[in-house]
Amino acid sequence: MRRISILGATGSIGQSTIDLIKRRPDDFEVVALTGGCNAKQLARDAIALRAQIAVVDSAECYAELRDLLAGTGISCGCGAQAIADAARMPADWIMSAIVGSAGLPPGMAALEQGTTLALANKESLVTAGPLLMDAARRYGARILPVDSEHSAVFQALVGEPMDAVERVIITASGGAFRDWPMEKLQTATVAQASAHPNWDMGQRITIDSASMFNKALELIETREFFGISPKAIEVIVHPESLIHALVGFRDGALMAHVGPPDMRHAIGYALNWPDRSHLPVDRLDLAAIGQFTFRAPDDARWPALRLAREVMATRGKAGAVFNAAKEAALDAFIAGQVGFMDMATAVDMTLAKMSAQSDLQNAPISLEDVMETDRLSRRYAIEALTTLG
Ligand code: NDP
Repeated sequence: MRRISILGATGSIGQSTIDLIKRRPDDFEVVALTGGCNAKQLARDAIALRAQIAVVDSAECYAELRDLLAGTGISCGCGAQAIADAARMPADWIMSAIVGSAGLPPGMAALEQGTTLALANKESLVTAGPLLMDAARRYGARILPVDSEHSAVFQALVGEPMDAVERVIITASGGAFRDWPMEKLQTATVAQASAHPNWDMGQRITIDSASMFNKALELIETREFFGISPKAIEVIVHPESLIHALVGFRDGALMAHVGPPDMRHAIGYALNWPDRSHLPVDRLDLAAIGQFTFRAPDDARWPALRLAREVMATRGKAGAVFNAAKEAALDAFIAGQVGFMDMATAVDMTLAKMSAQSDLQNAPISLEDVMETDRLSRRYAIEALTTLG
């Protein structure tokens, strides 16, 4: 029996992970499940999976969780510290699927026990890549990528020497506004941005796909996880979302990972690694699909890509600034306070203000530095958004 914990159990990735675990009840023992505020879902899953503990982030939802779990023998807790403590409970495999930079501290806490961390929370690598990778080395932990593109690169690299890698190409569907006229983008609504053409994901990442902020985060994630030079990382728009990434080697060969747009594939790969087990995902009918198409990304339509290249060149604290400003801008867009293209403008303004104030590049990095940078960047981003809205 492998002991498993899921951070962000109530979200899209968390629920897909639970779907896979429920299919093999004899293989897994569930230790901790955490959520933000969805106490009903969390309690339902904690009871069904006989978890040891369930923790919500929000104090407002704690009483409901406690009532729902009364008499079950399942412990419950509340708050960021309780989530980090749950991540420290001994487990062999921990899914990091909290959305946003809130996922960083519990991810770091999980690594301290030298476990395997299945990393969906890309924000951890964007805000604190060197810190996270260093902690994994120091504690003898292993990080397995769960983002579909990074799982694809990871799989294409099996058995290959890193010095033979010439380029990595991650694909982007182009999101909801791939074919919209440029002049309409600023007026796009939250509902329109929340409708992904291919993937069924949480709302925040779906909107980030439409703005390409998701791909921007993934560019940085690729650099931090695989240690590949930014010049060697490319983005290509692939509307079918069937090829997730390609790795190019020095002999000119390209190894592509092809699969249906279903996150249970990448989650299942990390769950079963280094083996492969049966997964309940669609098998592709290539003749029915007929063709794969590609087009170059357009930096004017998706300024997030240019900003990500700047962040990769700077590193240091720049990733934390970028991510925090992006999260604040997304909050403002979802709240109807700013237009769609204002998000990138606000992130650009925040990066400029933060780099004018301090040397982001040579900044020392500790978890406290990252969290402080996150707080300050959010404040500046909110100020920038107020001038735009
Ligand atoms: P969702 O929004 O669907 O779920 C987010 C999870 O985080 C929920 O369990 C939510 O709890 C919890 N949560 C939110 N805020 C906090 C907080 N402050 N503290 C603790 N927990 C919190 O997100 P996704 O599942 O879509 O994404 C999760 C992560 O995986 C993100 O980093 C995303 O970029 C990444 N990812 C997602 C993919 C996808 O297909 N969805 C693909 C690849 C990567 P609750 O709902 O109870 O409030």
